[in-house]
Amino acid sequence: MRNSASKLPPGDVLLGREEFKAVVFKRAAGTCVFCSQRAVDAHHIIERKLFPDGGHYSGNGAAVCERDHWKCETTELSVEEVRRAACIQTIVLPPAFDSARRYDKWGNEMRQDGMLIAGPLVDDVGMRRALEQGGKLGRLLRKEWL
Ligand SMILES: [Zn+2]
Repeated sequence: MRNSASKLPPGDVLLGREEFKAVVFKRAAGTCVFCSQRAVDAHHIIERKLFPDGGHYSGNGAAVCERDHWKCETTELSVEEVRRAACIQTIVLPPAFDSARRYDKWGNEMRQDGMLIAGPLVDDVGMRRALEQGGKLGRLLRKEWL
C-alpha cells in the first residue's frame, strides 16, 4: 500500500467522480482508514457541494466503512482526524474559504468556544440532519445573528 503511494496523484489534483473513488480506495488498500473493515464509500472530507468544480480532489477523499462514514458526516470525526487517518498532508478547501480558519466537513467555521458559524449550506437538509445526529446542530450560528 505505502509502496504504491508515489503512483497516486498529489492531493491537489482534481479527478473525475469514478477516478476519485478508485484513487481513494487504492490509497487505503480497500479498507476503512479508521478500522479494519472493508471500505464501502469514498468520503468527501469537505462536502463536495461547497466546491464549484465538484471537489473530487484526491486530498479531499478518504476510504471509509459505513459506520465511520456516518461519524464523518455527523462531524463526530473531525476533518483533521480524517486527514490524519488517511495520511493526507494537502489540505483542500473550496476557493472562497480561508486557510487560516478551521472548518467542519460542511464548511461551517469552527470557533474557539465550540460554536459554529454557518457556511453556505446553512439550510441544507442533509447537513442539518447529520449535525443533529452528531449533537452539533444547536451550536450552529447563522451569520445574520452575529
Ligand atoms: Zn471503519
